[in-house]
Amino acid sequence: MANFQAHLSAAAALSGLASMTCLSMELVSPNEVFFLWGVGVIGGILPDVDSNHSTSLQLIFTLLATIIAFAASVHHIHYFSIVELWIIWGIVYALVRYVVIIFIKKLTLHRGTFHSLGMALLFGFIITVFSFRLLNANAVFAWLLGLFAAFGFTIHLLLDEANSIELKDKIRVKRSLGTAIKLLDWKDKTASVIMIISIILMFSLTPEINALKQLFNQNQWHTFSQNILPKERWFQPHPIK
Ligand SMILES: [Zn+2]
Repeated sequence: MANFQAHLSAAAALSGLASMTCLSMELVSPNEVFFLWGVGVIGGILPDVDSNHSTSLQLIFTLLATIIAFAASVHHIHYFSIVELWIIWGIVYALVRYVVIIFIKKLTLHRGTFHSLGMALLFGFIITVFSFRLLNANAVFAWLLGLFAAFGFTIHLLLDEANSIELKDKIRVKRSLGTAIKLLDWKDKTASVIMIISIILMFSLTPEINALKQLFNQNQWHTFSQNILPKERWFQPHPIK
């Protein structure tokens, strides 16, 4: 198992490269790119939320509580006074940070269903639905955020799995091999069934899938292939088109 620092660094670096690529492909604006990077990083530390005393558990819940509290307040911004908004913010924050965390601790087993590709998919859908329905993001950006969330989550699983193989004099395989990356945890049937139902439910709430096509249309790939390397000399600025 890779440690928290390693997960944070890997997620920050890879999510940074991927979000910069999206910016160059003009899939997002300079204002939006930071959010893409952010959900990628959260995805990268989220899987270890199930190790009860981990740093990531505390950090993730502080982050989640803050984001959800903001979402709840933003949603009501035209209907309530400032003090009422403060109260909504505070209640939602406290609920997620101190109450939901207790249930998550009780429900999850380290490296159980939560630490799986199924959860990566579910987390991606949750982020897409959340940003589309509550934060009023447009469909393309909402899907992109979901993709980054699932991407960060998957990087975490791959890094844990890579850590199961020791490359010293000869290749040694630790007992943890195969526990980090899995579709679902079939040993825990109930959790797996709940996960599958949640995936289907969340998918049904996502914006139209056609929006995704916009991400992968020919123009975007043309921009990508045109801009990936310098035309003539390196680091000689010239207008990109
Ligand atoms: Zn892990």
